[in-house]
Amino acid sequence: MKVGIVGAGVAGLSAAYDLALAGQQVTIYEAAAQAGGLASGFRDPRWEWPLERFYHHIFTTDQEMIKLTQAIGYRDKLFFRAPVTAQWWNGQGHALFGQPVTLRLPRVGTVALPGLITTALSVLNYPGLSLPARMRMGAVGAYLKYGTRNWRSLEQITASTWTRRVMGEAVYQAFVHPLLEGKFGNHAEEVNMAWLWARLKARSFDLGYFVGGFQGFVNALQSAGERLGVQVYLSTPVTSVQPTATGWQIASAQGTHDYDDLIVTGSPQLLSKLVPQLPPEYLGQLKQLRSMGAVVMTLALTRPLTDGLYWVNMPKDQFPFLALVEHTNFIAPEHYGGDRLVYCGDYLDPDHEYFRLSQEELLERFLPALQRVNPQFDRSWVRATWLHREAYAQPIVPVHHSRNIPPLATPLRGLYWASMSQVYPWDRGTNFAVQLGQQVAAEVLQAHMSG
Ligand SMILES: Cc1cc2nc3c(=O)[nH]c(=O)nc-3n(C[C@H](O)[C@H](O)[C@H](O)COP(=O)(O)OP(=O)(O)OC[C@H]3O[C@@H](n4cnc5c(N)ncnc54)[C@H](O)[C@@H]3O)c2cc1C
Repeated sequence: MKVGIVGAGVAGLSAAYDLALAGQQVTIYEAAAQAGGLASGFRDPRWEWPLERFYHHIFTTDQEMIKLTQAIGYRDKLFFRAPVTAQWWNGQGHALFGQPVTLRLPRVGTVALPGLITTALSVLNYPGLSLPARMRMGAVGAYLKYGTRNWRSLEQITASTWTRRVMGEAVYQAFVHPLLEGKFGNHAEEVNMAWLWARLKARSFDLGYFVGGFQGFVNALQSAGERLGVQVYLSTPVTSVQPTATGWQIASAQGTHDYDDLIVTGSPQLLSKLVPQLPPEYLGQLKQLRSMGAVVMTLALTRPLTDGLYWVNMPKDQFPFLALVEHTNFIAPEHYGGDRLVYCGDYLDPDHEYFRLSQEELLERFLPALQRVNPQFDRSWVRATWLHREAYAQPIVPVHHSRNIPPLATPLRGLYWASMSQVYPWDRGTNFAVQLGQQVAAEVLQAHMSG
């Protein structure tokens, strides 16, 4: 059986690996010059490791990803640590996770407290809320993380309504609203509570990263597939696909090739464009799936920006970006020729002006904000900048979203679609791209076994 795959992101590569393991002949077409899609990296000549275009880490709960690294012999390149995550409040970043707390015990010496306890202490110490509000937030957060799995009832209500009711207005304004607004902009009030539950449920305090970055992992996954016979065409966008008597034909700069099955990864718009002959109701369903884009500027600085903070959630009403991520407070600057790497990132509607402004124009907007983060900051600290933008970066999940999600098998025989829009209730991420790729591979194999 021959399978063609559009897209060498983590989903496409994972599907290819599983199909090849099952003895199928697989070809992947990738538009970009390297594999990895949203998780791919870039490298300055002075860096030892590439860096993700969009900040990335995984969680200890990302089991599919961890198992896959084991399967391809890459587990020893994955490591976990607990960098500091903070919330900006009243002119500074207040640590929420990862701030080490130690106890000095007689005869035992200094002992580091576990992540759960240090997080509870950090939340209880957060100055932007009254003590009762902090305790309520801690108790409800613990219930969501450890006490319920009933996301189907939570998807019937918006996160905004649920958290206001259960956690109180103050907690909503201080923590939940910034998170929702940061990820979903004007759509913040539409997002369902299952999304927030899933974020809390599936995230650990320790964060994972790869020796050689995510690009290192992606390249290893690509090579593992190639060793099993997978053919990967890079810099080869698929220009059209056509149904044939026995399957699908893919057209690209490599010419036209026939396959029994076709898996398209990537956005609903890509699928609609490549396969306009899909039934109108199905195309209508794809159109209903909305998403946010991402705009992320990376700065290489000659000095650290923050006092050891990795991730700072910034209030959108005070800063021109949502996330300030000082990568080199997670991964040592030695891997980047001593550069201090800072991301300024935001999720925005694809028609937002940040998608049109030049890199210089955006930098001018961002520089004053960096000075507010660190009053010592001077633009002479900026050695280089890079700007990455992607229109399809974060699906929007309104109430009853499970009803909107199309299955992986499309109504057309032999055509499958595996995208971030089908990852639910979990928030999309590389772990779920692995799972999705494995799932679509299993469905393709199953369809052939049954007939
Ligand atoms: C700002 C940001 C931060 C993130 N942070 C994290 C994180 O910390 N941890 C985490 O696990 N995940 C994170 N993610 C999410 C993660 O990157 C994605 O969930 C995952 O990479 C999606 O993989 P995919 O294969 O489904 O899609 P994609 O990566 O989008 O892959 C689709 C591929 O199809 C290719 N393609 C498109 N059109 C064509 C065509 N015509 N022909 C051929 N190829 C084509 C694209 O070039 C791309 O390579 C983040 C994403 C963003 C945007």
